[in-house]
Amino acid sequence: MTGADTLMQWIEQDRERLTGFLQDFTRIDTSNPPGDTRRAAALVAGLLDEAGLPFRIVAPHTEKPNLVASIAGAAPGRHLVLNGHLDVFPIGDRARWTRDPLGGERDKGRVWGRGTVDMKAGTTASVFAYLYLARMTDLCGRLTLTVVSDEETGGRWGADYLTEHLAAEVLGDCLLNGEPSSIHTLRFAEKAMFWLTFRVRTPGGHGAYPHLSASATRIAASLIGDLAAVETVRARVPGPVGELLARPDVIAAIERGLGTGAAEVAGRATLNIGRIEGGVSVNMLPGDCMFTADIRLPLGVSHREMRGMVEAIAARYPGVEIEAPTHAAVDPTFSNPAHPMVGIIQDSVDRLLGFRPPPIVSLGGTDARFWRRRGVPAFVYGPSPEGMGGPDEGVLIDEFLHIVRTHALSAWSYLAG
Ligand SMILES: [Zn+2]
Repeated sequence: MTGADTLMQWIEQDRERLTGFLQDFTRIDTSNPPGDTRRAAALVAGLLDEAGLPFRIVAPHTEKPNLVASIAGAAPGRHLVLNGHLDVFPIGDRARWTRDPLGGERDKGRVWGRGTVDMKAGTTASVFAYLYLARMTDLCGRLTLTVVSDEETGGRWGADYLTEHLAAEVLGDCLLNGEPSSIHTLRFAEKAMFWLTFRVRTPGGHGAYPHLSASATRIAASLIGDLAAVETVRARVPGPVGELLARPDVIAAIERGLGTGAAEVAGRATLNIGRIEGGVSVNMLPGDCMFTADIRLPLGVSHREMRGMVEAIAARYPGVEIEAPTHAAVDPTFSNPAHPMVGIIQDSVDRLLGFRPPPIVSLGGTDARFWRRRGVPAFVYGPSPEGMGGPDEGVLIDEFLHIVRTHALSAWSYLAG
């Protein structure tokens, strides 16, 4: 029996155990904010303890621990890092859920609950892939597991911290992550988030006296209209990557996985005005208005460049201030779509389901960017993103087990090869 056969047999024997673990993991509330992940980290730690595998907890923020574990193979070789996050989106309006968001209920072929899709299924896949590979006696190189906190709020206490302060341990030669991607595509790149807060101030006054003061809300409305120009900024990517993204089969895969229109959105900047707030009363002329903009940068467009464009637009209006988050913005990142890990993931999926998921650009952000930013090729393959962050989030158990298999097989191929 080959190593791959052994892995598949272990996963088959563990079906109930894997699903049960995902249910237990879902029952632990790791909503972020506030993002307290201590109990979830303890659940993962318990699994490693049971297997006799050492690990350490790195907690620059006491309520947001990160777990790091590493095993060396019998012979030298490549260093693969597995990464997943413990925290999840907030539950939101419970009245909109028909399932218990913290129930981990198993019904209709899914495990239901907040974070099952993003990304407790993927993180469980990373942890179990690590456990299975640790049992293999002829592993080469090194396998490192990083289970982190604080992904949903920027990664400062999680992946950003680890890749900055424990670089020698956690960067490795390649990263594999199980964030939702749809099983039909894998991700080699991601757009970047660029968030800004705009404040418009004018003297304000009586609503019937517009000759005495400009209206902050109307300035904001005009400015928002003008800011839509950022959406004309298109991706600028070098030859092979640009050619790959223009391929009809790749476009079809993006649209199949992420919905019609996703391929077009992947190739340009987008603008979301997430919040707007201004004025006091219907008959008062507003003296202040605040709004937030979430701009997603396509590949090849830096936040510095976008900032310049935004400032030039805002300069047309008096009394506008722009605030950027104090934490450093990250530019869009991409890895080589011809990296061996891409072929390895495709081979694994081909073996399991008979198709080869093409590499595409992620619209949302993941912790993979922290590895790419430091020059480490990073790839994401996980379940369908459908339902993530919304009410009645639930992951298909078949997809979850497929992700476990794909991660275990791919990690094994990368390290045994
Ligand atoms: Zn996520």
